[in-house]
Amino acid sequence: MADILIRGGLVGTQDAQRRVFADGAIAIEGNRIVAIGTRAEIEAAHSAPTIIDASGKIVAPGLICTHTHMPSVVGHNMPVDFSKFRSFMDLLTKWWWPDVEEQTTYDSIYWTTLWAAGKMLKTGTTTVCEMVEAPSVVGGCLDKSAEAIGELGSRAVICYESTQRIDEANAEAGINENVRFFKKWKDVREGRVTGRIGVHTAFTTSEEMLRRVRGIATDLGAGLVIHVAEIPPAMLEEKYGRTAPVVLRDTAFLGPDVLAVHCIHMTPEEIAIWKEHDVKVSHTPMSNMLGGSGVAPMVEMLAQGITVSLGHDCFFTLDLFQYVRMAYLLHKVHHHNPGVIPAFQAIDLATTGAAKALQMEREIGSLEVGKKADIIIIQPNQPSPLLPQLFYDTLINDVDGADVETVLVDGKVVVKDRKLVNVDEEEIRRKVVEETTALWKRSGAI
Ligand SMILES: [Zn+2]
Repeated sequence: MADILIRGGLVGTQDAQRRVFADGAIAIEGNRIVAIGTRAEIEAAHSAPTIIDASGKIVAPGLICTHTHMPSVVGHNMPVDFSKFRSFMDLLTKWWWPDVEEQTTYDSIYWTTLWAAGKMLKTGTTTVCEMVEAPSVVGGCLDKSAEAIGELGSRAVICYESTQRIDEANAEAGINENVRFFKKWKDVREGRVTGRIGVHTAFTTSEEMLRRVRGIATDLGAGLVIHVAEIPPAMLEEKYGRTAPVVLRDTAFLGPDVLAVHCIHMTPEEIAIWKEHDVKVSHTPMSNMLGGSGVAPMVEMLAQGITVSLGHDCFFTLDLFQYVRMAYLLHKVHHHNPGVIPAFQAIDLATTGAAKALQMEREIGSLEVGKKADIIIIQPNQPSPLLPQLFYDTLINDVDGADVETVLVDGKVVVKDRKLVNVDEEEIRRKVVEETTALWKRSGAI
């Protein structure tokens, strides 16, 4: 007997055949999907004590966001005069680094992560790849993120942004925190949290550090996360005489376990380096717009068969449906071509592509027998019939995170009737405002 049966509704699997069932059903046992198909065939073979009726709704894989800095939500609405910034580096050095990152505390990591991951969960994002930036509280800080994820019931890959930006000791502390956290979670069977090794950028680390971190990641069997080519290539050329993708290739940093975030300033030759080393990409359209940083050549990378996923960097809304829509539209206008990035490809960025980007495609990203039961149920409000052949179009055109009604992670209901099941949302909101207010005072913003 199964534990949960989701029956009825338009079930989009995102499997290799892109099967969509008009009146589908899913049987869940423990934390995994044990059967998926038409309602008639699944109901004939499975019963369960818990039945979720999804008739008239859309059932889809939980979305996956491959780049977040959840403590950064304290920067939302911060009184900052953007007119004083002339470049993305200005934005970092005059605001972000001193006033946000360096003011982050253990408590603010905990409450912001509860708030941000909770907001993502309610809007359909079941897995996040989190990179914590908190140079004043490095040791043990990742435990605060994991604690929040554990309480919410969502899934996360967590790393610390190690960097020599401040000094050698801080870089060392960052590397150690990554290693400690990765080892702590490595052997936790069926856990919802895993670690990776995070590095800020090639610009803020030496070649020696890049080589060393690569070696550590290889020894541990851990993946790597790094921001790449967000800033203009001239700055890297001045430092190294080469661009970031070339420096990363020359230091043997690259490989299929590398998640490269942003990848804006990429030449065809550098895209070929990514292809050669099977580097995965996290595309963050909205934060790239905010920084005036440019448009990543996502269409070109996808054409080369490079795995591309979506992140949001924690600026603006945390509703990943908005970022899917942004990617769908931005590249059409950028290329003056409505044919690029069809709807299915945009949805892939936040599901199957994202699972591959995190090397978790055997576990999540699609609804298939044997995979983790990370499932969202959407109550759509579209002006057209709900047809299987319109699964992708309906998601792109008419669905927002607010339409997500029920969310399951690891076979457990964590959002019910649009509310978080495991935590007190009002308490989290109150505490995150308190933390944000205190941080703004520390940084002199208010
Ligand atoms: Zn980032």
